[in-house]
Amino acid sequence: MKIGHGYDVHRLGPDRRLVIGGVEIPFQLGLVGHSDADVLIHAVMDAILGALGMGDIGQHFPDTDAQYQGISSVTLLRHVAGLMDQAGVRLGNLDATVVAQAPKLAPYISEMRARIAEALGAEVGQVNVKATTEEGLGFTGDGAGIAAHAVVLLSE
Ligand SMILES: [Zn+2]
Repeated sequence: MKIGHGYDVHRLGPDRRLVIGGVEIPFQLGLVGHSDADVLIHAVMDAILGALGMGDIGQHFPDTDAQYQGISSVTLLRHVAGLMDQAGVRLGNLDATVVAQAPKLAPYISEMRARIAEALGAEVGQVNVKATTEEGLGFTGDGAGIAAHAVVLLSE
């Protein structure tokens, strides 16, 4: 068994789509970044790469590389799933938490789980996603950004 942890933060800004867990969510602001800035999938990929002992997404998908500009993070997650295959491991389970004051994410959670599970070739029951607020505190609380945490367990 191999365990991994991932954490990511993106700033919220105007004129950007809000994509979390591969799901586009209607909101007046979106996450700012080189790719689609999908904070949840970035945390998931970092957790998997951590479990594989293969560094982090910055090394695999550098934000100085034009080929990753605006790319869907689901596409990158499929690439990471390929690295799992090459390493001979499968997903045991994955648990993630998105920290956002707004918008309300509950209506989108089941679709996020389905998107992530599909990209990883896993069952929805192996992928758990939670959403919480920080009660108005800190950078997520004042709406400056959104954070995500993820842990995974991989098995041979
Ligand atoms: Zn990120």
